[in-house]
Amino acid sequence: MDFRLSDEQLQIKTMVREFGESEIKPHLSEWDEAQHFPVDTFKRAGELGLLGVTLPEEYGGAGLSYVDYVNVIEELGVVDSGFGLSVAAHNSLGSGHIYIAGNAEQKKKWLSKLTSGEWIGAWGLTEPGSGSDAGGLRTTAVKDGDDWVLNGTKNFITNATYANISVVLAVNDKNAKRGVTAFAIEMDRPGIRAGKKENKLGMRVSDTAELILEDCRVPQENVLGVIGDGFVDAMRVLDGGRISIGALSVGIARGAYEAARDYAKQRTAFGKPIADFQAIQFMLADMATEIEAARLLCWQAATVKDAGERVTQFSAMAKLYASEVAVRATEKCVQIFGGYGFIKEFPAEKFYRDVKLCTIGEGTSEIQRMVIARNLLAEAQRA
Ligand SMILES: Cc1cc2nc3c(=O)[nH]c(=O)nc-3n(C[C@H](O)[C@H](O)[C@H](O)COP(=O)(O)OP(=O)(O)OC[C@H]3O[C@@H](n4cnc5c(N)ncnc54)[C@H](O)[C@@H]3O)c2cc1C
Repeated sequence: MDFRLSDEQLQIKTMVREFGESEIKPHLSEWDEAQHFPVDTFKRAGELGLLGVTLPEEYGGAGLSYVDYVNVIEELGVVDSGFGLSVAAHNSLGSGHIYIAGNAEQKKKWLSKLTSGEWIGAWGLTEPGSGSDAGGLRTTAVKDGDDWVLNGTKNFITNATYANISVVLAVNDKNAKRGVTAFAIEMDRPGIRAGKKENKLGMRVSDTAELILEDCRVPQENVLGVIGDGFVDAMRVLDGGRISIGALSVGIARGAYEAARDYAKQRTAFGKPIADFQAIQFMLADMATEIEAARLLCWQAATVKDAGERVTQFSAMAKLYASEVAVRATEKCVQIFGGYGFIKEFPAEKFYRDVKLCTIGEGTSEIQRMVIARNLLAEAQRA
């Protein structure tokens, strides 16, 4: 077992960090304040291979491993987790569903546009009345001749305002055990549009909006996977997506830790740097230790996924632990900054606002615990 990264992996991390430092960080407070999603910078991420990290080269992807993807998302999270969230939703949700469930023709048609950044992808499962209880979705898909007609509203959809294509989950048979189907819908089709853009606590650089379907007519060739298997495929998509939320959490926690450490070394009280006080040192020690443990869980889940094995339990563990570590780390960061931790000119408050989404998006901490427990108990039953 070797936890060291290869030279190539370290280079990728450096490249992403430099991209973030030069093209995101200088604009961050302005974008955060205005809730501005930087489309051009997002597309530039496509030029660097960050919008198709794990997809094969035949679709324009970078052909890297899920471990590499975890490292990319962590680095983006250090600089701005909102931008990282949009990149993660594009990679592991929108493109991820097309890659997992799409046929050869669909992949050829859509994925190269998504990996290059020419197109932006979104993924709509959540609805106003169903989030954790994702199976309670109400959007309908009714067969009409060779087409499907979709009606419903999706809620809290990352990238919805700017997406060129959205994967939408809809009920095609409310009486069937497997009655949910996935559709890839180009956003210039009549009947689909982005709705209200949310005004958020954090992750404000990421776009979050409704996705509204009103008699949206979609041809059969836009059905992703087997009719009725959409929900099962969506859970597989989330298995991968949750690892990226874990990685994003590690990035936020690391950003908060690095800011707190540097501040503690230069801020003085009672005639010495506050880093000399054991109370501050213990906070830094706890932050750093938990970050290492969280990253190892993300790498473990990514390694299992790279091996093609079932990753549900490991991805839920990585997401649960990393997101809760990150919440604790950002809280300590604000504490170490003291009053300045409350002030927008300093970095601590933004980490504190951004991080909370990580315990909610792609399944809350409670849902992760349910998934983990269900898997553990099923495993015990089989033994
Ligand atoms: C910024 C942002 C981006 C998002 N991006 C996307 C996206 O791109 N695509 C998408 O489809 N969705 C997206 N979501 C939706 C997100 O996945 C849901 O918000 C999340 O799954 C929680 O669902 P909910 O908001 O309906 O909360 P609810 O399900 O109403 O949960 C409310 C509370 O009840 C708890 N709860 C619910 N059921 C149980 C239970 N059985 N046992 C114990 N506790 C329970 C929850 O843990 C939570 O604490 C996004 C959300 C946000 C805020």
